[in-house]
Amino acid sequence: MPTNTPAFAAQSATSPLAAASIERRDPGATDVEIEILHCGVCHSDLHTARGEWAGVTFPVVPGHEIVGRVVKVGAQVTGYKPGDTAAVGCMVDSCRTCAHCAKGLEQFCKSGAIFTYNSTDKHLPGKMTYGGYAKSIVVDEGFVLRVPEGLDLAGAAPLLCAGITTYSPLKHWRVDEPREDGSPKKVGIVGLGGLGHMGVKFARAFGCRTVLFTTSPSKIEDGKRLGADEVVISKDESQMQAHAGSFDFILNTVAASHNLDAFINLLAIDGTMCLVGAPEHPHPSPQVFGLIFGRRSLAGSLIGGIAETQEMLDFCAERGIVSEIEPIAIQDINTAYERMLKGDVKYRFVIDMATL
Ligand code: NAP
Ligand code: ZN
Repeated sequence: MPTNTPAFAAQSATSPLAAASIERRDPGATDVEIEILHCGVCHSDLHTARGEWAGVTFPVVPGHEIVGRVVKVGAQVTGYKPGDTAAVGCMVDSCRTCAHCAKGLEQFCKSGAIFTYNSTDKHLPGKMTYGGYAKSIVVDEGFVLRVPEGLDLAGAAPLLCAGITTYSPLKHWRVDEPREDGSPKKVGIVGLGGLGHMGVKFARAFGCRTVLFTTSPSKIEDGKRLGADEVVISKDESQMQAHAGSFDFILNTVAASHNLDAFINLLAIDGTMCLVGAPEHPHPSPQVFGLIFGRRSLAGSLIGGIAETQEMLDFCAERGIVSEIEPIAIQDINTAYERMLKGDVKYRFVIDMATL
């Protein structure tokens, strides 16, 4: 018998989030039931709750930056026991047998990854998966992450999406390896929000020459404190021009449609700009010439696999890296969304789930 669980849900694209009751399955043999303590607020939660992306089924319970305490485990669970700290990110299952899953790229599962919210729930017929704005969640052990000791739990929550989404492309494009001449790679991070501030911290930790691009002059000091060697106001053409043709890699986290050419022109020969921001409206098409003169690449990246997410959490524990957070009560979630839209968040809201 599924259990009724308190949550916060959007009933439609235009209704604010409000208290609701959802069903959670009883833990099966390989399941872990987690009481949720902290849940980060990702811009993807807002895009989904407001129906900005195609394919949203309401009601929606957002939240995929989940940290909590294990309360119950199934008979075959070996890695977790009641009382353990555990985390859940953007996925709760995948086929686990296709070539992509076998490579640890469950986010690209050929049958489609089952995301933490707004995916078809294979356990509760006719239901969608519901995310972390809730009292508890039941997840197969294979998709539960360990939170290493020493990490602040609320500060660790955003690592489950903002962390892995920035860590994974920075590693994939090998920014942690020096250039051929031994000098550090020059890496740009575009946008200082939830993802961007983690990108700055990781680029710094990987030893890169790190440049932050922001539209907000008020974030210059924070950008440097968080690890940027230099902060560029992206609306200032002369500041941008000073970096023309010089970047090995740029990670673009902006949540709104904008002109990509301004950044493509800053890439060195063979440089890549990777998009992780997923705006409601498409970017204007980039100029072909910006790409062919310089053999530059425009790429994208989606979160990261389960093993890599664990690797990232362990790396964060080793280096003392967590997100900069502003704790909120669940009742303030709609105000938090409005502030996120204005870029007024330093640098991730994290819901204290005790307030639910
Ligand atoms: P966020 O905290 O709201 O940060 C976005 C930042 O983008 C803002 O702080 C702002 O930085 C900049 N920005 C916003 N509007 C802008 C505009 N009109 N022009 C220029 N810059 C603007 O959002 P987030 O949670 O980091 O998420 C960012 C995006 O990544 C969202 O679209 C989200 O859905 C997506 N996402 C993708 C993945 C993936 O796997 N690919 C995973 C998670 C999230 P400045 O003030 O510094 O300019
Ligand atoms: Zn997210």
